[in-house]
Amino acid sequence: MNTDRITNTLVELCEIPSPSRCERPVADYILSRINSLGLDTVEDNAGDDLNGDTGNIIVRVDGKSSSSLLLTAHMDTVMPVGGLPDRINVNITDGVVHTDQNSILGADDKAGIAIALEVLHHRVETSNDMHPLEIVFTVQEEIGARGAAYLDKDSISAEQGFVLDGDTPVGTVIVSAPHKLRYDLVARGVAAHAALEPEKGINAIKAMSAVVTELPCGKIDSNTVTNYGIVKGGNATNVIPDIVELIGELRGHDLDHVQHVQKQIEETAHRVLESSGASAEIVWTELYPGYSVSLDELCIRYFVSACNKFNMQVDYITTDGGGDANPLNGSGITCVPFGLGMKAIHTNQENIRLADLHKAFHLLLECVTL
Ligand SMILES: [Zn+2]
Repeated sequence: MNTDRITNTLVELCEIPSPSRCERPVADYILSRINSLGLDTVEDNAGDDLNGDTGNIIVRVDGKSSSSLLLTAHMDTVMPVGGLPDRINVNITDGVVHTDQNSILGADDKAGIAIALEVLHHRVETSNDMHPLEIVFTVQEEIGARGAAYLDKDSISAEQGFVLDGDTPVGTVIVSAPHKLRYDLVARGVAAHAALEPEKGINAIKAMSAVVTELPCGKIDSNTVTNYGIVKGGNATNVIPDIVELIGELRGHDLDHVQHVQKQIEETAHRVLESSGASAEIVWTELYPGYSVSLDELCIRYFVSACNKFNMQVDYITTDGGGDANPLNGSGITCVPFGLGMKAIHTNQENIRLADLHKAFHLLLECVTL
């Protein structure tokens, strides 16, 4: 590892704002770095098809075994309330990379990109003793892992891999993440003049408020959690509102139980709304599938032997969040998010220790080396 290079790469990447759908400047940085190594890249059509300015970027390098490994890192960052500055001021204090606290740092996931680029440098500059690698820089992770879901899995030969994205400590992998669904519930009542003919109306806000008090919300059990977070409806105080929309989500590790809670939400919505003369329409959207990776899988075995080599304790984490690993596992590529040690992600206090970045690189390199 070239310590200065990986550090500079991280700083340069973090200085470039790249909120979801606007990944182009970071993609161009990555492309120029990869092209300077004499490697070819492919960019898919995710930019056009997902209303962004950039597609997923794929680079392949050959290796000394017959089985490829997939590495991914996402190019987008969250868009904080208040937006992002044109250039992010990045500082290093006592070995910790951070901003001037006027914006996020974006180490989520520029740290993953910096590590992936350093792996490519290492592969080109040293004798080849690695697995063949397929490295994918994805778009739109922060708005529902859309780039990874879009990726043409038939174009990927790797069956195992690592998602270089994690605010968990170095030495951890996330082996289980929940299924996530969204629901859009519409209550339909009857509009009427609120003063002249109130008896002719069915107030959808009132009907929906009765549903809200009965719908499951919060932690259902240790495996399942649901929340309603958006409500829309009504136009004027002198009109009985006829349409109200409630938008919520449901996450769970056990698909059977997720489907049970889903039915419970539907049954409650229909029963309560129809009892007041309103009607219910509910539409479910699967945002991403859940996954559970067995400890016998090859990627886990590589990870454990790498940790053993560095005398690091191995920790397996179950999360209630989600990311690129969800759709990738859902499409048959067994992969786990790889802890990089980034902290306070999605806030202006976001930071990462260079020692963690360097340790994560060494650990990953060991995982992909024969
Ligand atoms: Zn991330």
